[in-house]
Amino acid sequence: MSTAVTTRAADTAAVEGDLGAALLAAFEGPHHQRRSAGRAAFPADGMLRDPALDMQQARAWTLERLHTLVEAGVGQAIVGVERATADTQIQSLIDFETVAYGDLSVAIKSGVQHGLFGGAIAGLGTPEHHQRFLADALSLRTLGCFAMTERGHGSDVASLETTIEYDPDADEFVVHSPRRSSAKTYIGSAAAHGELATVFGQLVVDGAERGVHCILVPLRDAEGRVLPGVTIGDNGHKGGLLGVDNGTIAFDHVRVPRGMLLDRFGSVDDRGRYVSSIENPNRRFFTMLGALVRGRICIGGGAAIASRRALSIATRYADRRTQFRHPHSEEETPLLDYLAHQRKLLPAIARAYALGFAQNELIEAYGTVSSDKDHDARAQRALETLAAGMKVLNTDFANAAIQTCREACGGAGYMSENQLTQLRADTDVFATFEGDNTVLLQLVAKGVLTDYREVWGGLDRLGLVQASARMVGSAVIERTGAGLLAERLVTTARRKGDSAAFYDRGWHAWMFEERERHSIDSLARRMRAADRDSFDAVNAMQDHVLFVARAHMERVVLDSFIAGIENCADGAARQTLEELCTLFALTSLESDAGWFLSHNRMSDARAKALRRQINQVCHDLRPRAIALVEGFGIPVDWLGSAMLAA
Ligand SMILES: Cc1cc2nc3c(=O)[nH]c(=O)nc-3n(C[C@H](O)[C@H](O)[C@H](O)COP(=O)(O)OP(=O)(O)OC[C@H]3O[C@@H](n4cnc5c(N)ncnc54)[C@H](O)[C@@H]3O)c2cc1C
Repeated sequence: MSTAVTTRAADTAAVEGDLGAALLAAFEGPHHQRRSAGRAAFPADGMLRDPALDMQQARAWTLERLHTLVEAGVGQAIVGVERATADTQIQSLIDFETVAYGDLSVAIKSGVQHGLFGGAIAGLGTPEHHQRFLADALSLRTLGCFAMTERGHGSDVASLETTIEYDPDADEFVVHSPRRSSAKTYIGSAAAHGELATVFGQLVVDGAERGVHCILVPLRDAEGRVLPGVTIGDNGHKGGLLGVDNGTIAFDHVRVPRGMLLDRFGSVDDRGRYVSSIENPNRRFFTMLGALVRGRICIGGGAAIASRRALSIATRYADRRTQFRHPHSEEETPLLDYLAHQRKLLPAIARAYALGFAQNELIEAYGTVSSDKDHDARAQRALETLAAGMKVLNTDFANAAIQTCREACGGAGYMSENQLTQLRADTDVFATFEGDNTVLLQLVAKGVLTDYREVWGGLDRLGLVQASARMVGSAVIERTGAGLLAERLVTTARRKGDSAAFYDRGWHAWMFEERERHSIDSLARRMRAADRDSFDAVNAMQDHVLFVARAHMERVVLDSFIAGIENCADGAARQTLEELCTLFALTSLESDAGWFLSHNRMSDARAKALRRQINQVCHDLRPRAIALVEGFGIPVDWLGSAMLAA
C-alpha cells in the first residue's frame, strides 16, 4: 500500500476547503503526518456496528473487526521497554486514536488486548517475557485480559485481596482469591475470549507481603475451555460497549511457574528470595503503576476523538437543517444561525481544539519520558499528573459534548442510525475506567502540591497531601516548554491591569494563573492548619482539592493552545485559532465567574460583559463552522450518520 497516496486520499475526503486543511495540519501539530498515515491505513469500511446487534452478536462482530484492524497493521506498536524509542511509544498512542474513528467496542477491545494486556507485559515484564509473549499478544494468537479491579477494590489498587504466594518446594506461584470480594470483575475479554490474563495481586514470599505485583495466569485452553481452578462469570449487558465481553474471574489455588511473574520491578530469585531494585515498597508500587500510564493517555485520546466525531455530526447537521422562516426572506433559518445553537456547539468546538493541543503536549511528554531509561522521578511524576488530568478533562468533556450534540440534533439525534446515542453510551464509562475521574483529580492536586521525590516515604493517600502542604509556602506556577510563551504574556497583561481587552491573550493567561495560584495557596494554608490525623478535617477540603486540580489543568490547556497557535504558519488558520482560543478562554472564565467575582479578580461589569463577548466570537466564527470541524480530519463517510448522507 502506498501510504503517501492513501494518506492524501483519506484527508482529502475529510477536508474540502483550504482553511479546514490548514486547521487540521496545525491542530495535529508535530504528529500530523503520523496521524494522516494512521487514517490512511484504517480499514474504515464496516467499522461501525449495527446498533441492532444483540450482545452475543456484538461480541462476535467486535472480535472479528479486531482481527481486521490487526490485518491492516493497526495497533502493533507496543514494544518491550528495551526496544522502546520515542517513535514506538508515540505510535502506540496514535494507533489508539486511529481505532477510535470506528466502533468504540472495537477500540476498547483493542485497548484491552494491545494497550492493557500487551502493555502490562511490555511495561512490567522483562526481555524474556517480551520475547515469549508479546508477539502472540499483538497478533491476537493469544487473547488476553488485564485483571486488576476486584469486587471489593477498584480505585484503591493497593488494597487488592488476590494473593500470589510463592511455593519454594514446587518453585511455583499459587494465585488465589480468598473471598468473594477478591474476585476480579468488569474485566474486558474475560467473559468469552480471554486465554491468558495479567493478574494483579499481593505477592507473598516466605510469609512476607511484598505488595501488589502482576503475574500471567492462563484462563482457557486452546479449545476455549476454562482451566481447572479458574471460575469465570459474565458481567452481562452493560450501559454501552456492548461488543466487549466483560466478566469476573476467581482463582482457587491456581499454580503457575515462577517465570510467569512479570518481574521487572520485583522478582523471586533461584534461591527463593524476593529481590527488587526498588527498596521502598511504596515507591515500587507507584513505579509499577507509572509503567502503565499509557492506558490512561489512550482513554483520554479516544474520548477526544469521540467528541470530535459528535461535534462533526452535529455541526454539519446544524449547517443544513432549517427551522422557522426568516422574517425578512422566504428562506428558513439554518439551526446554526441561531445564537442559542452557536452557543451550544462553537464553545464546545473551541474546547475540543484546546484539549487537542494539550493532548499533543502529553503525547510528546510520553514519548520522551517513556523512551528515556534514565529519566528522573520528577519527569515521570509530571507525566503522570498530566496524563491523569488530561484523561479527566477529555472524558468529562466527551460526556458533556456528546449529550449536547445529541440534543442539538433534535429527534434525529436520538435515532441510532445517526450515531450519537451510540457514542454517548460508549463513552460514558470512560469517566470511570483507567482511573475514576474524581480519584484522578486528587492525584493531579497531589502532583500540583508536591514534588514526587519528597513523598516516597510510606505515607498513605491523606498523608501524602498533608506532607505536601507542609512544603508549599506560596504557590509558584512553574512553567516549562509550552507555558513559557504564556508566562511572557502574563507579565505584559499585569502591567495593563483591568484595562486589558477581552481578547487580550495575556489577560486570559493571567486570570487562569490567578485562579490556580490563589486556590493552591489557600488549600496549602488550610492543610497546614488542619489536624493531620483527622479524616474529617482533610475530607472537608476535598472540593477544594478538586477545584485546584481543575484550575491547574485549565491553565495547562490554555498554555498548550497558545503554544500551538505560535507554531501555526498559515495566516488564516492562525487567525481562526486565535478566535477559538479566545472562545475557549472566555467560556472557561465564564463558568467560574462566581469565583472570580467573589475573589475580586474581576469586576461586576467585566463579568457581565463576558457573555456579550462570547456571543460576538460565536457570531464571528459561525461562517467558518464547517471548516472548524473539517479541522478534526474525519471524513463524512466515517461519521456513519444517515441524516448527513440524505
Ligand atoms: C465497562 C468497564 C470495563 C472495565 N474494564 C476493566 C478491565 O479490563 N480491567 C480492570 O482491571 N478493570 C476494569 N474496569 C474497572 C474500572 O477500572 C473500575 O470500575 C474503576 O477503577 C473504578 O473502580 P470501582 O468501580 O470500584 O469504583 P469505586 O472506586 O468504588 O468508585 C465509586 C465512586 O466512589 C468515588 N470515590 C472512590 N474513592 C473516592 C475517594 N477517595 N474520594 C472521593 N470519592 C471517591 C468515585 O469517584 C466514584 O464516583 C472496568 C470497568 C467498567 C465499568
